[in-house]
Amino acid sequence: MMTTTHLALVDDWELSGNGSGDVRQLQFEPLRRLVAIYNELGIHGSFNAEVMQQITFRQHQDQHPNLKALADEWDETVRETFRQGHDIQLHIHPQWQNAEYQDGHWKLTADWSILNYSFKAAQQMLQRGKEYLEHLLQDIDPHYRCVSFRSGAWCIAPSPHMLDLLVQLGIVFDMSIVAGVKYDTRNIQLDYTDCEEGFLPYYPVMTDARKVSEKVEPIVCVPTNCFYASRRQVLRHHVDKAAGKIRNKITRPNVVSNNGRSVEAYGEQWAQIDGSRLSRVYRKAIVPYFRGKHTISDLAQLDYALMMEMLESIRKRSRASGLSDVPVVLENHTKDLHNFADLERFLRNAAASSDIRFITLTELARNLKHRFKVKTRRSIEHAAANHR
Ligand SMILES: [Zn+2]
Repeated sequence: MMTTTHLALVDDWELSGNGSGDVRQLQFEPLRRLVAIYNELGIHGSFNAEVMQQITFRQHQDQHPNLKALADEWDETVRETFRQGHDIQLHIHPQWQNAEYQDGHWKLTADWSILNYSFKAAQQMLQRGKEYLEHLLQDIDPHYRCVSFRSGAWCIAPSPHMLDLLVQLGIVFDMSIVAGVKYDTRNIQLDYTDCEEGFLPYYPVMTDARKVSEKVEPIVCVPTNCFYASRRQVLRHHVDKAAGKIRNKITRPNVVSNNGRSVEAYGEQWAQIDGSRLSRVYRKAIVPYFRGKHTISDLAQLDYALMMEMLESIRKRSRASGLSDVPVVLENHTKDLHNFADLERFLRNAAASSDIRFITLTELARNLKHRFKVKTRRSIEHAAANHR
């Protein structure tokens, strides 16, 4: 059977996790560049607009007219992107709650993980975010709805209430699960090393999205894709990156790289607390040697060769599923995107392949009802029994 893979190009569109960075440089400009590439190739992409940030800008705009100008431009950028046929969906970073604005900088002190908030508090944030986006976009398309959710820093499981809350808000599917990731950082603790399904859509256990339910549930999980990059490509990618850094230092010694989003700030926010030297060596050097390096399919972090490895891995798994149509969610972060040329080359290649199609998140949600098969635990056991 011929298998068609339906790729959703998803992008978490936001400032840095600690609220730093310039909105124009990290969001407006790279988004326009990316959308221009999509438009040229006839692809419709999807953007997970982080709305807590925007609502916070609005809350402070009366005292700070510069924030009003940026918030207005945010609205206009989102509307213009949507008008051109791209999708906009819900993304929430709770650390923006009760943020303070001092001397032109944001100070975020609230918890980073939605899992640490009460049902009521989480409900308030998600409800307001959904209403903001729907209000903004429904006069362009009255049928527009928030149908998917990506939680800030992937925090969705386990939780006694998060999936119920999403159902209550009319969300059709969540895409916060990335099988295999584990964070134990200052801001985030989560463990997705034991996910029962890392590739295909499934009905989750309602209190633990890492597990596949026995039965049909009122919400679907579509995992965000990840793959094992070969040792050879990872090594080459790191050497290229290091060479790039040295080149930058020589040619532009005083320029802050990364659009004002410093590598040091990123490293500090995401540094693993699990700190023994031996465990670091094991994780970074020994595990990849046997299995390849576990890599989130985040296009901003990959070069062309790694993107092609990712696509090959997706093709293999799609075919192995025995299904005619498989949806796959790829990630991106506009704020980290620098290598537009490699991304364009990859998209051009994928767009020319007869077994690849591109879909938006709204299309993905619609097709979960008919075209795309959604797993239950029973269907997994059934398939395993047939295999024996
Ligand atoms: Zn985010």
